[in-house]
Order: sequence, then structure tokens, then C-alpha cells
Amino acid sequence: MNNTNDLRLRFECVHCGKCCTDLDTLVNITYSDIIRIKNGLNLNLDEIIEILGFYVFDKKPTTKEISRMVVPPIETERGLAFVGLKKRNGQCYFYDETKKRCSIYDFRPNFCRTFPFTFKLLIDKENPKKSEIEIFYTEKGLKYCQGIGESAPFIDNDNWIQIGQRVIQDLTKNNVLIKEWNKGVKENKISPSVRNFILTIFNLE
Ligand code: SF4
Ligand code: SF4
Repeated sequence: MNNTNDLRLRFECVHCGKCCTDLDTLVNITYSDIIRIKNGLNLNLDEIIEILGFYVFDKKPTTKEISRMVVPPIETERGLAFVGLKKRNGQCYFYDETKKRCSIYDFRPNFCRTFPFTFKLLIDKENPKKSEIEIFYTEKGLKYCQGIGESAPFIDNDNWIQIGQRVIQDLTKNNVLIKEWNKGVKENKISPSVRNFILTIFNLE
């Protein structure tokens, strides 16, 4: 696996907390994030449901819109929903306002570990071993992350590409789970309750 980034990116987190407190940012979460937080904080089913937000779309997204989402929505009893961490007073549920930091730092979702970057896998169909990963700033990162800028140091691309590989693997597994879940719901084989969704994830352990 190679890295296609010729352009060197600059970033160093200055702990401004914007990514945890921005009103318009929802922290997406994969099933492995949920398992890590569950085990790290020793949460039971009800407690996990308490920390998650199931954000039902006002208007059902089109197939094209869904294909552009990093984490696709899931079918629930209330409609198609984006799964993320819950918000409290507009901020991430786990942001400690007094200490101005994340209260679950060791168990935080991949979204938080990789912000302000996102990754794209460019697959070489003839030779998959030559597939490459590109790394970009996210739109929100460019909008408000104070760690990006001319004064920030260049990132260690190799290190970030390794992180990108792990994240892409995680997202791929997560997307398979969501696809199977949504298919099962549409075929009336699965009850689309939030509780059932979390139980399905627990059973993957
Ligand atoms: S989980 Fe932690 S790092 Fe991620 S948005 Fe919430 S407070 Fe910030
Ligand atoms: S917005 Fe950027 S600089 Fe601020 S805490 Fe998040 S990653 Fe760090």
C-alpha cells in the first residue's frame, strides 16, 4: 500500500476543543467504536443507548447522497438514522467543559482520532497491492480546526497513512454490518429497534 500524497499537510492539535463543541458537528461512530467505549467504561445495554444519538433524517437522503457518507445511516423504527455520539448542550456528550477536554480520550471514536483528516482508498484493480491511500483535510477541519495552518508542523505522512489504513478497514467492516442490517430490516427479518441494533453489535464481540 502506497501513499499518493505529494502535497505535505500541516497540523498539530492545539486542543481548542472546537471539534468536540461545534454545534453542527455530529461525531460518527462505528460498531468497533461502540464496543471499545462499552468495554472501556464498562457500560451495559441501557447505558450505551444513553450515550448514542440516532439522528433521524428530516428528508430521506438519496442513494447518491448515502453513497457519499462516510458512515451510512441505519434503518430504525423511526426511519433512516445517522448513528453518532449524543450531544449535550450542543457539545459532545463526553466533552468535559470544566477541564476543557475529552473525558473518554483513550476510548474515543476513530472520527476523533483522525480529525481533521479523512482518507480515500484508490484501488488499483489490476494490482490491488498497488492500491493507495490519499489523505485530505475534512471540510469541517478546514472550517474551524485551529491546528491547521502555516505555523503548524508538517504531519508524519507515513504514520497518518497507517492510521488511514486501519480506519478504512474499520469503516469497511462497519459498512458491511449496516448493509446487512438494512437489508434484514427491509426483508422484515430484523426488528429495527435501537435496542436490537446494539444487541447485534454486542453479539459481534
Ligand atoms: S469523544 Fe471526546 S474527542 Fe470525540 S468529540 Fe467527544 S469529547 Fe471530543
Ligand atoms: S479542532 Fe483541531 S485543534 Fe481543535 S481540538 Fe479539534 S483537532 Fe485539535
